This record gives sequence, structure tokens and C-alpha cells, in this order.
Amino acid sequence: MSDSPLSRRTFLGTAGAVVAGTALTPRPVVAAPAILRRSFAAPVAISSSNGLRGVARAVELVLAGTDTLDAGIEGVKIQELDPKDSSVGYGGLPNEEGVVQLDASCMHGPTKRAGAVGALEGIKTPSEVARLVMKYTPHIMLVGKDAQRFALSYGFQLEDLLTPESREAWLQWRANRGANDNWLSPDVKGPMRHTTGTINMNVVNAAGDISSVTTTSGLSWKVPGRVGDSAAVGAGQYTDNEIGAAGSTGLGEMNIMACGGFLTVEHMRQGMSPTDAALATLKRVVAMTPPRLLDERGRPNYQLQFYAVNKKGQYGAAAMTRSPFAVCDEKGARIEQCATLFS
Ligand code: ASP
Repeated sequence: MSDSPLSRRTFLGTAGAVVAGTALTPRPVVAAPAILRRSFAAPVAISSSNGLRGVARAVELVLAGTDTLDAGIEGVKIQELDPKDSSVGYGGLPNEEGVVQLDASCMHGPTKRAGAVGALEGIKTPSEVARLVMKYTPHIMLVGKDAQRFALSYGFQLEDLLTPESREAWLQWRANRGANDNWLSPDVKGPMRHTTGTINMNVVNAAGDISSVTTTSGLSWKVPGRVGDSAAVGAGQYTDNEIGAAGSTGLGEMNIMACGGFLTVEHMRQGMSPTDAALATLKRVVAMTPPRLLDERGRPNYQLQFYAVNKKGQYGAAAMTRSPFAVCDEKGARIEQCATLFS
């Protein structure tokens, strides 16, 4: 259910709450216990727009009884393993040296645990490695070669993550970095901008248990070793099982500056709807933006999105400028538009 006050589930939930409240207590009841309201809710998964297949898969799994984090990870793995998604996992765009370095993090609401990996090379599904860090170590984040060794110890295979397409894009970028670079390109297209792309997914089940996961190849052509917000618990994603979950895609550095995943959940804790919470976080991000990332009107010259769901299954998303997101609930999987801070 979007956080529109008249959506079907709100109506059903309210009607059900009144009936249930009347039956259970002799005196007038203003609001039913949350557990009664939840019994009318279907699972919800919300993600960045590349997760359209993933949200459908996650909800299907949750309906079959799968844990919310396991379901979310199965959802994002579709993108991690898809060579055509150049923002995540296999086929992700590489750093400035042509090496694909992946970041991921996850959080499991019911057990209050989190895991993350940063700058992981050669493993297609960093989301699964982040979950292993969470499950089998007392730590939260492993990085670089040691994260890779950790993954190999669990049987992951070392693989070349560059596809012919992502290698070609990198070669084009390298050959067009600027007038003074040392590479000749027969097909000069001009400097290629850094690109962003990631998948964040947040899942709530009918019992109100919540999890979140974010996975990415990060900013294309980044400085080797750069770890972005996707690996940062509290920025790329965050879950509080009492409140909700939120995550992000877009320029990770600016999200880290505002601890955006955490802040969005905090906004929901204060009573904001998921959409309003995401918008409020974006406002904080803008306030934290240095001049080099602002245009002549003082607006951010980068994109950033937040996706959020609360314990009741209300969801929402917001972006600096027009941007789609994916959601799946009892009405099925679909693309909707984020609320925007700027036109
Ligand atoms: N947030 C990711 C990062 O900065 C990139 C993206 O979402 O597009 O690594």
C-alpha cells in the first residue's frame, strides 16, 4: 500500500481493526493493537526500479514462508547475476583500472544483525557474502582481499566479473578521459561521466518482520578501493524491526554524509509516512551538499533516491528528480514514480 490514506489495505485494516477491537474489549477502542492490523497486510517488497523481477520474487518467497532477508537477497541476486545490469555484480562497471569492485550490506530486523562487504573482487553475489559476515562472524564489515578470502572459504568461485560490454565501456572511458590522456580512441565520444546504479530492496512480511539489502558495483570508474554507501550500514540500507527499513541508490558519498538509511527510519519513527521520511532525508542531504555538487540555482547536480517501507507495509520513495522505483504487494509487482524534491 502506498502511504495514500485511501488505499485498499488502509481501508481493510481500519475496518478490521474496529471489528477486532470491539470483539476483544468492552470499552471503545481508538486503535487496534498493531498485531491485529498486521494480520490484514500482505508482504511488501520495495526496491530501485531495476528490482522489478526481484520484488516479485521476494514477495513470492515470503508468501511461501521464507525469511525476509533471505527473500530480499534472492530478489537482488537476480540483478547481481544478470550480465545486462551494469550497476551490480556480474557485468558491473569497473573502477578506473578496469577492475570490478563490489559493495553490499544487509540487515535482518528480527535478530538485529547486519553484515557488509566492501571492494570485493571476483565474486558475483556480494549480498550473499554480506549475509555470511552477518551470520558467521561477530563483525559487521569485511573488505578487499580478506573479504574475498572469506567468501572463498565458504565455497564461492572466483570469476571474471567483466563482461565484454562492461570492458568495452571501460575502454571507451579510458580513451576519452580528457585531452591529455595517453590513449587513442578511433571513436572519440567525449568524456564519459561516472555512472551510478545499484539495487536496494526492503522487505516486510505479514507478521511485520523486516529486512533490507543493498548491492552494487558502485560508481563507475571510481578510484580503486573506494567503498560507497551500499556497504555502509545506516547509509545504503537500514532496518529497525520495530519501525521499518530504508535504503538508497545514487551518489553514495552524499548519502553517507547524511546517514540516509538510518535517518529515513528515524523520520518514520517520528511518525512520518515512508514518502515524507524519504523526502525529509533528501532535504538533509541537500543541506549537507558542498558547493562543487550544486548547480547555479543551488540545486544538487546529482541524483539520489531513498526507498522505504514501514512495519505496517506502507511504502514510499523519493528522489532528487524524477525517478522510478519497483514495488510488489498484494496488487502485484509494478513500477511507480518516486516523489521528487525538485522538478
Ligand atoms: N550508491 C552507489 C554508490 O555510490 C551507486 C548507485 O547507487 O548508483 O556506490
